[in-house]
Amino acid sequence: MIKLQNLSMSYPIEQSQLKVLDDAELSVADGETVAIVGPSGSGKTTLLILLAGLEQPRSGEITLDGITLNPLDADSLADIRRDKLGIIFQSFHLVQSLTALGNVALPLEIAGKENARERAYQMLDKVGLAQRQNHYPAQLSGGEQQRVAIARALVHAPKLVLADEPTGNLDVATGAIIIDLLFQLNADVGSTLVLVTHDDEVARRCQRVVHLQQGKLIEDRDHAISA
Ligand code: ADP
Ligand code: MG
Repeated sequence: MIKLQNLSMSYPIEQSQLKVLDDAELSVADGETVAIVGPSGSGKTTLLILLAGLEQPRSGEITLDGITLNPLDADSLADIRRDKLGIIFQSFHLVQSLTALGNVALPLEIAGKENARERAYQMLDKVGLAQRQNHYPAQLSGGEQQRVAIARALVHAPKLVLADEPTGNLDVATGAIIIDLLFQLNADVGSTLVLVTHDDEVARRCQRVVHLQQGKLIEDRDHAISA
């Protein structure tokens, strides 16, 4: 599902470059669950942004589901996101002029799917927000907005789910529900899951744990043995 080769990324700072990814390599098979762990500032969000095709790497190659992203233009990358990806970012990026239901239905409507609003309602129900379907983002708490964003990311049962600390804004009980949803989707439709997390317990539920260290992705072999 994912193949990263010699992936490097840096950001300009002052007179020099901050190297965030340095020849990182990763292969993830269809349907695998992989936790990405590493200290704050190690480049986890950067990695997901590149995987989502939202920025170009400085060098290296990203292949998703057999498609190499590097040569694609913005429209083609947007098509791939719409068709294959569910992205849960730390900031929610909800459409402020749409209700919770409207936000969750949006990816289905854009893709021309039938029963968009019914399916959106069912997904909102799964994240515990059925009663809030007609509320606008500004009327929801941070945790509720995060749950809407998660429902929107999962509503079309994407092949690949990219989640950036998805429970960071949630209380423990709601966080557990969300994590269960991610793994349930993996079990039900075989979606591949790449999950950035600070939570060891959540990481342990993934089949693989990969550490982001000094710009490299390093497989946690101990985890593989114990799993
Ligand atoms: P993490 O998600 O692991 O906390 P990030 O990928 O957000 O790490 O950031 C990695 C490093 O790159 C940090 O030092 C951060 O300050 C820096 N960084 C991230 N995005 C940018 C940007 N757009 N411009 C400059 N520096 C950035
Ligand atoms: Mg981050």
